[in-house]
Amino acid sequence: MPGRRYVIVGGGMAAAASIEGIFDADRSAHVTLVCEETHRPYDRPPLSKSLWRGAALESIYRKIPRSGVSLRLGTRAVAIDRVRKTMTDSAGTEHPYYKLLLAPGGAPRRLPTHDRRVIYLRTIDDYTRLDALSRSRAHFVVTGGGFIGQEIAAALASRGRKVTVVLAEKSLGARSFPETLGIFLNAYYRDRGVNLLCGTTLSALDASDGCVRVRTSSGNDIVADAVIAGIGIEPRVKLAREAGLRIGNGIVVDEFLRTSDTDIYAAGDVANFHCAALGMRMRVEHEDNANVMGRTAGWNMAGGSIPYRRVPFFYSDLFDLGYEAVGVLDARLDIVEDWKQQFRKGVVYYLKDDRVRGVLLWNTWGQVESARRLIESGEKVLPSALAGRISD
Ligand code: NAP
Repeated sequence: MPGRRYVIVGGGMAAAASIEGIFDADRSAHVTLVCEETHRPYDRPPLSKSLWRGAALESIYRKIPRSGVSLRLGTRAVAIDRVRKTMTDSAGTEHPYYKLLLAPGGAPRRLPTHDRRVIYLRTIDDYTRLDALSRSRAHFVVTGGGFIGQEIAAALASRGRKVTVVLAEKSLGARSFPETLGIFLNAYYRDRGVNLLCGTTLSALDASDGCVRVRTSSGNDIVADAVIAGIGIEPRVKLAREAGLRIGNGIVVDEFLRTSDTDIYAAGDVANFHCAALGMRMRVEHEDNANVMGRTAGWNMAGGSIPYRRVPFFYSDLFDLGYEAVGVLDARLDIVEDWKQQFRKGVVYYLKDDRVRGVLLWNTWGQVESARRLIESGEKVLPSALAGRISD
């Protein structure tokens, strides 16, 4: 019997993980992966992390089985015919599918003024460009105080470059961290030579004469060699929307990661799923979600029925600080800080209606499962009972 045909749209971590899931459950599968990038699937986190600490570029590529998989790189999916069960790519080729996975990720939000001296650190090509620039150029403006902003500012400063961070909020990571920790982080970055301009945004940008001149909304003029913008991503939902699939902050999936068409699945940054432990729909833009969700989607496409119930997990390293985090890190929740050593080592709990929704493990290691269990338990806790509840 000829193998079943699986088609994957996207070439990121969720897509790569789904191939593992498909072959685990269906050894005679034929997989076609269609991806706009010309690189085969690779891990994205190293682009702002380990590659800056000397990891080899080759080490970030994912292992893809040699047989049974056809990679269509540099090609976009442009249409889905749900009745005929085909996907058409930008080269005009029709790909019939038994099951289709949408894992196109997100596109970086762009500054209103686009210029080639603005780098959105999303792809290997972006990294390669910034890496080369950082070896010959001196001054970089980073805009955005989120994950990219925090990680790349630390990476460039560690390489001895002058870095100015322009961020709208009062402090780095303001969306996720308690204000006290954000203020510490600002000082920590400044102590390492990073110039932080908080509460302001880029209002004008002009690139000429081999440099880029930026003006901030509070009137600062800065001349730099390049701008790195980490101002978030937008999930790529156009193809799914045009195919008539249900959309709502991403592509809406059920617990088996099926879209509103049961032959089409979605996974990774683009998928809006119901997190049972947190009792809410969410979209998660982190590595663990991409990998576990991608693999689960692959299994389910190939006949499994495994619900996706993962509580989100992510991590980061900032100079010599590091953390792991589980659940929802929303600075608007009720926050209980339990420091063993103020801002250097401890655990921060995020509560709603006396239940823990998120846990930040700051330089506290090996406690992800404890944090997960605490969130999943849904137990009511008194803030005073959280002192020492999780520690390494
Ligand atoms: P991000 O973490 O969502 O942060 C974007 C930041 O930019 C937010 O603070 C946002 O503020 C701000 N912002 C939005 N529009 C802006 C504008 N026009 N001017 C100035 N600031 C603006 O996104 P990111 O840092 O760009 O990262 C991109 C993606 O990669 C995210 O999905 C992220 O999760 C992922 N990533 C993850 C990791 C990790 O897990 N360690 C590391 C790197 C990247 P508002 O909140 O007010 O919109």
